[in-house]
Amino acid sequence: MKIGFIGLGNMGAPMAKNLATAGHEVIGFDTAAITVEGATIAATAIAAARGADVVITMLPNGAILRAVAADVIPAMSAGSVLLDCSTVDVDSARAVAEQAAERDVMALDAPVSGGIGGAAAGTLTFMVGGSDAAFDIASPLFDVMGQKAVHCGPSGNGQAAKICNNMILGITMIGTCEAFALADKLGLDRQAMFDVVSTSSGYSWTMNAYCPAPGVGPTSPADNDYQPGFAADLMLKDLRLSQQAASSADADTPLGKAATELYRTFVEDEDGTGRDFSAMLPRFEKRGAAE
Ligand code: NAD
Repeated sequence: MKIGFIGLGNMGAPMAKNLATAGHEVIGFDTAAITVEGATIAATAIAAARGADVVITMLPNGAILRAVAADVIPAMSAGSVLLDCSTVDVDSARAVAEQAAERDVMALDAPVSGGIGGAAAGTLTFMVGGSDAAFDIASPLFDVMGQKAVHCGPSGNGQAAKICNNMILGITMIGTCEAFALADKLGLDRQAMFDVVSTSSGYSWTMNAYCPAPGVGPTSPADNDYQPGFAADLMLKDLRLSQQAASSADADTPLGKAATELYRTFVEDEDGTGRDFSAMLPRFEKRGAAE
């Protein structure tokens, strides 16, 4: 396929490289001067998009996605697909899909989980919103860039799935970290805590697969001085999107709200920037009940 790829950052560049390596013709564009092995670099987003079967975007946020989409959709051919893999707000995803439909361009919102490692290895998971026809066209590309693509329903539902998942993840990580900090103060050994919880009803991905306590459970960012992994800043971004969606949809998400405020404090007022999101554990360790 001929693929326009806009946004060649930490995630976009390795995804574009994998598509080129798989034999697709990739024409990339980024506002920063970035080159990608196997891809041609265009001078503008419009030039990257013109004549493409699929235009992939991997951009920082919904406002930038809306601006790029407004530029490239008029240059895209009828029947082509605009595949946004960024994590953005549900409303932006749906607005872009409507704009695309006016030009007979099919839109998919397909945010990913798996991070930079998954992008490089081609093992991302895609959560996809949009039509069956668009999903079928993009499927071979999901196979190259990832190991799984779940079609979640119409436009916006991919973003909805992503932020609901990550809201659970943020809440669960906080719960796991505060339980470890409480266990410490109660004199319960961390290994014993892990052995019990990981096989009891408190088990979770954050405990069993990504344990925030160093030296306990499988190897995780905690064993590497909390280098990300999944940065607390990105968790804060996703939690904020969950709260934007909750407000827009009139949903009551009190724990999502509390998790957002805790990660905001951690990232903006404490030392959380650039650390893994599991570094909530050393944060709780240092604190007492009154704080
Ligand atoms: P990044 O900042 O490394 O890359 C974004 C790229 O977009 C940059 O290279 C930037 O120059 C480019 N860009 C900005 N404005 C542009 C414009 N108008 N036209 C063209 N290019 C433009 O970010 P990233 O880590 O690659 O993340 C991209 C998206 O993926 C985000 O939405 C993020 O939330 C999501 N995501 C990231 C991770 C991760 O682990 N990094 C994991 C899952 C999802």
